[in-house]
Amino acid sequence: MLGATHALVGSAIYQTADKRWLSYALAFGAHYLLDIIPHQELSATANCLLFVGTGVGLGYVAWKERDWGMLIAGFLGVLPDVSRQLDLLPFITHSHAVVHTKDTSPEYGMLLELLIDISAVVLILRGRARFEYE
Ligand SMILES: [Zn+2]
Repeated sequence: MLGATHALVGSAIYQTADKRWLSYALAFGAHYLLDIIPHQELSATANCLLFVGTGVGLGYVAWKERDWGMLIAGFLGVLPDVSRQLDLLPFITHSHAVVHTKDTSPEYGMLLELLIDISAVVLILRGRARFEYE
């Protein structure tokens, strides 16, 4: 899936988890679960642009909340793709290649990813609202 989707899901896990230290491991593990689902890949350029835009949005929310853990979880969510692209961590790169499924139709893949992204954004913003009332 897109790096933006992995970052959003990782951040959403962090925002909604009661035990935030556990959310880092879950954000990393969620990458593998998401990549098992048949999906569509975009070009590296489009993927990077969406990821940077998402990072700016997540950075803004983290800055507003003065809680940078959400960015760490987002980064851990996308780490297997970063490792693959830069050939950094052989075990992560290999295990990522094992679970990564082939592409599906562009329509299904983009619709699926859009639904996941919208759900993650709702959870991120809802999680933020929850903490404002505490
Ligand atoms: Zn991946």
